[in-house]
Amino acid sequence: MSLEQEISRRKTFGIISHPDAGKTTLTEKLLLFGGAIQEAGAVKSNKIKKGATSDFMEIERQRGISVATSVLAFEYKGHKINILDTPGHKDFAEDTYRTLTAVDSVIVVIDVAKGVEEQTEKLVQVCRMRNIPMLVFINKLDREGKDAFDLLDEVEQKLGLRVTPLSLPIGMGADFQGIYNIWEKNIQLFLEEKKQKVGEAIKFDDINDAQIDELVGAKAAATLREELELVESVYPEFDRDDYMKGDLQPVFFGSALNNFGVRELLDAFIEIAPKPQPKESSTRVVKPEEKNFTGFVFKIHANMDPKHRDRLAFVKIVSGTFKRNENYLLVREGKKMKFSSPNAFFADKKEVVDESFPGDIVGLHDTGNFRIGDTLTAGEKISFKGIPNFSPEHFRYINNDDPLKAKQLAKGIDQLMDEGVAQLFTLTMNNRKIIGTVGALQYEVIQYRLEHEYGAKCNYEPIGIHKACWVEADERSEEFQEFARLKQRFLARDKYDQLVFLADSSFTIVMTQEKFPNVKLHFISEFN
Ligand code: GDP
Repeated sequence: MSLEQEISRRKTFGIISHPDAGKTTLTEKLLLFGGAIQEAGAVKSNKIKKGATSDFMEIERQRGISVATSVLAFEYKGHKINILDTPGHKDFAEDTYRTLTAVDSVIVVIDVAKGVEEQTEKLVQVCRMRNIPMLVFINKLDREGKDAFDLLDEVEQKLGLRVTPLSLPIGMGADFQGIYNIWEKNIQLFLEEKKQKVGEAIKFDDINDAQIDELVGAKAAATLREELELVESVYPEFDRDDYMKGDLQPVFFGSALNNFGVRELLDAFIEIAPKPQPKESSTRVVKPEEKNFTGFVFKIHANMDPKHRDRLAFVKIVSGTFKRNENYLLVREGKKMKFSSPNAFFADKKEVVDESFPGDIVGLHDTGNFRIGDTLTAGEKISFKGIPNFSPEHFRYINNDDPLKAKQLAKGIDQLMDEGVAQLFTLTMNNRKIIGTVGALQYEVIQYRLEHEYGAKCNYEPIGIHKACWVEADERSEEFQEFARLKQRFLARDKYDQLVFLADSSFTIVMTQEKFPNVKLHFISEFN
């Protein structure tokens, strides 16, 4: 197969949702269709279980599962589909944000009863910022939930999307009869006795066909016709270009648990979802079809076994063919590297591969060279944009608890930050170190891993910081000098030596912006 053919048959995407909406169940059903797994229950939920075990155990369990489910690949109707796992737990949101830099599209899962929830809102916002094409799947139609049109309104309003339904439920909960597929113009009946099975869809060219009345009853048929009319008059017609630009989001209804509406979703997905897309770099846009390999690291995973210090760096291939044992350039370090056992991921295993193509993810064994966001090329000195840090939500001083292990502590912190577990800020005034995280759970992760993997001990001290603001200013200007003098105690450098203002309240941020209009404060580390 030519490189072009390999590229156009690939679809790399992520499923995002609020915990419990049905992401794991949907993933599993998709894998079943691809024949990648044989039975339900094979996909492990990467959810943080509450209460059941001690937090340390839970963290380790979570890390294990998170390696296992990082990338799930399967074949479906000639397509190679790569699902990138996105943790739903909010303490791991940063991981999810970074993974979203490696997907070409997204499926958003929403619970029909709960509607749009908090995590969905946050993640969709990130996707909107990047104009990632999104498909929406409204799940759990076998349960009593909100009215379909109310939900569509909610999705538009809360998520700021412009939607168009490509399927419509016929009834809901106890009265759920099936789904009318607007995309394929057919009806799929939901038969109690056929639960868990996918029945044949019945095609109708005319919505006024009397057979529909026989199938679902006159009343439901009349409602369906009314609703279809409403869809036609209110919602835009599906337009692939708009979808690709992130301007239009098609919506599907179904029940992942009952395997209902999932095949329709998957069939529409392979038809409309984008193949691997070009990516912007510091100097130029890199196209997947280019002969030379380029890729970037979006995730680093430490070895579960503390005795083996190696890590697995997840690289998304942007262009060309990645080959085993070939020399590649780690651009940031100017270092040539060769990989003798790159891993490719499948639904139930990972394997050493000789070649991988754009859209694919390869896992590279690394002894501490890589950093999140690193670019790897066949020799060209370019770096890909787009793995920024977001302002953490929590801040604490980190102190060394064992003076004899200062070196180990420094190394451990350094490597954990490379992995993207948390962010380090060093106060310019006194060099004290502050750890910023998205969730409180990360502090336990860091403490535990420092001790078990690096033999270092740390403790934390509270500090009243509200947000990290990356500073953009002319450092020679008087205004900046004045700002720096006044805010001296709150200025720090991040790991990449960027200047950061650690604001103690949102009020401070507003006041500071008013007073120093030319000192720009950003809540995200990449702003050029
Ligand atoms: P995740 O947290 O988004 O990965 O959600 P899960 O896939 O683990 O699903 C959460 C719960 O919802 C589980 O108990 C599932 O069995 C259940 N569930 C998922 N899909 C459906 C569905 O279509 N109908 C019903 N009734 N329950 C579902």
